[in-house]
Amino acid sequence: MTDWQDYGHIDGTIVMIGFGSIGRGTLPLIERHFEYDARKLTVIEPTDTHHTYLAQHGARHLRVALTADNYREVLGGLFERGKGFCVNLSVDVSSLDIMRFCREMDVPYIDTVTEPWAGYYFDTEDNAQRTNYALRETVRAEARANPGGSTAVSCCGANPGMVSWFVKEALLTLARDLGEPDATPATREDWAALMQRLGVKGVHIAERDTQKSSRPKKLGTFVNTWSVEGFIAEGFQPAELGWGSHERWFPDNAHRHAKGCQAAIWIERPGAITRVHSWCPTPGPQYGFLVTHNEAISISDYYTVGSGVAPEYRPTCHYAYHPCDDAVLSLHECFGSGKIQEKHHILDEHEITGGIDELGVLLYGHQKNALWFGSRLSIEEARDLAPYQNATGLQVTSAVLAGMVWALENPRAGIVEADEMDHARCLEVQRRYLGPVEVHYTDWTPLSNRWTQFAEDIDESDPWQFRNVLAT
Ligand code: NAD
Repeated sequence: MTDWQDYGHIDGTIVMIGFGSIGRGTLPLIERHFEYDARKLTVIEPTDTHHTYLAQHGARHLRVALTADNYREVLGGLFERGKGFCVNLSVDVSSLDIMRFCREMDVPYIDTVTEPWAGYYFDTEDNAQRTNYALRETVRAEARANPGGSTAVSCCGANPGMVSWFVKEALLTLARDLGEPDATPATREDWAALMQRLGVKGVHIAERDTQKSSRPKKLGTFVNTWSVEGFIAEGFQPAELGWGSHERWFPDNAHRHAKGCQAAIWIERPGAITRVHSWCPTPGPQYGFLVTHNEAISISDYYTVGSGVAPEYRPTCHYAYHPCDDAVLSLHECFGSGKIQEKHHILDEHEITGGIDELGVLLYGHQKNALWFGSRLSIEEARDLAPYQNATGLQVTSAVLAGMVWALENPRAGIVEADEMDHARCLEVQRRYLGPVEVHYTDWTPLSNRWTQFAEDIDESDPWQFRNVLAT
């Protein structure tokens, strides 16, 4: 029997909101690593799908959908002031409202995405309002208006989340390899100065998911390795990216924001059909989708030297996501037909026959060209490491675990994002669940491996311009 690391006692009620693919995988990690009164653990989940699993684990199942009208009453009936933990792993539930309520109650809180109430992603007509920039700004405004207080960890899954810790490890690796072995930034300003000094022009959150099952995807079904609903929602949001100070070109269909940190821009096109040239260790050069994510904005913001729309230094940052092959086909069908498939299917750990989720950060534009730092977790390793999840899930749930440990160790930190947490401590907790965590240098640039038969709108004077990254 394994002697699991004990990260301490959680007094009161642990409430998990949502019990989908990530909730299912997070519960066994909570069971392993915390002491708590199991009879009080409550899962708020409107469906019955995993009722038996919850009963077997002695968890209480509250079969209700949280709404803007009922959340205060439902949560108020569960939490005692200053006790417990709120783990929000749902879709269609406002992260900001739940976070606010938990902080009023002095209850620690964590989520993996800044989620709005149901309807927001599809019913909001103004595309600027549908961006993650707008959603993130609401959380940042709350943090500014009510600094300090009970800890609420915002956007702490794999990405957003863990990848922000990877950026710091990658920077320290690059610093060592460029002859700066003692770089130990202590503040946000120090980290930003280090990234600037090392000449990093930008960061891709570069992911390749090769997990597959033996059953071909059927017409009319959207298949993914994590929330189909979550992926469709973010895929339909406008493409979005942190906009670096080295960029010399501006896409015709892109917009800046008038208010807020101004670290990002958005493009008048859904992220799930906007492709970028990127690189991961297994495939080498590949297309990824420019799907909007909180970390694209938070990383660009965190590493800014100066402020506003024209800072002294800011890295470009965006997601370059190649989901599993079935998800690529699902997107193709969804956007081609102009309608969302009726059936949704998340590939689970039993039906996946092979593959890895290779998720890392590609720091580019510096003296050594580009460095990928990340986790290359296979389905086989994931199955050995923890139950009820595939490789994608375990990268997320282990980040939730790390975020919970950090929140308990830092109970009065206020609202924080992963960039603002102690990355070394978080990775210390998480690493045992990540499989091989590797560093790869590459001489690939967005101008390598291009078909030259057709003229392209490229800038040969600097391979790392976003103009060259964006696929036409
Ligand atoms: P999922 O679709 O499998 O599960 C979501 C669950 O939320 C479902 O069981 C659903 O019934 C429940 N739900 C829906 N409406 C609800 C409501 N009103 N009240 C309570 N519960 C409700 O999704 P998942 O794969 O488990 O992902 C969960 C969340 O985590 C999503 O928001 C997703 O975007 C996010 N996520 C983040 C990362 C990351 O790395 N940061 C990775 C994967 C997923």
